[in-house]
Amino acid sequence: MRGDSLWKWILIGNSGVGKTSVLSRLCNDEFNNTFISTIGIDFKIKKAEIGGKNITVQIWDTAGQERFGTITKSCYRGANGVILVYDINNRNSFDDVNRWLNDIKLHTGENTARILVGNKCDLKSSRAVKTEEGQNVADNNGIPFIETSAKTGENIGKAFTTLAELILEEI
Ligand code: GDP
Ligand code: MG
Repeated sequence: MRGDSLWKWILIGNSGVGKTSVLSRLCNDEFNNTFISTIGIDFKIKKAEIGGKNITVQIWDTAGQERFGTITKSCYRGANGVILVYDINNRNSFDDVNRWLNDIKLHTGENTARILVGNKCDLKSSRAVKTEEGQNVADNNGIPFIETSAKTGENIGKAFTTLAELILEEI
């Protein structure tokens, strides 16, 4: 259809932060408590209508490569959006955000739309990263920030819409 868009996004961030869970919640409205190290699942499709425009997004999961601290260039190829996830209960995953931002810059250049996502916000008692800290890193990099829970579904749709709107604004 004229005006419809097919996009590619990728999900990155440390192992265990909930990337695969965010993807299942977003695309299948499901949540699984077990940590299945992602091997072999490449992407899921999310269709949406944003501002009167139909978009189809292939969202790629990094399939366990993130454990090695970087992902291959082929994962980034053709991507116009990146969802960078950390776990608000895991300080280390937040400290690594700058490293992931550098990895994105290195592989995609400056123009790829990005969003920073602090996931597992349902686990309030073990929080290790303040909301303001996430917001500051996002502000410093000029990207939107949102806290989500793949478990409850909180803000998962909003994260998707925010990144989609950012891309539509720039087109
Ligand atoms: P990935 O390695 O980044 O793909 O992380 P997974 O999606 O496999 O999630 C790792 C673990 O965290 C699993 O046990 C999930 O059930 C759990 N998890 C993921 N998202 C959330 C969340 O929003 N809240 C809670 N409480 N647990 C989550
Ligand atoms: Mg995974």
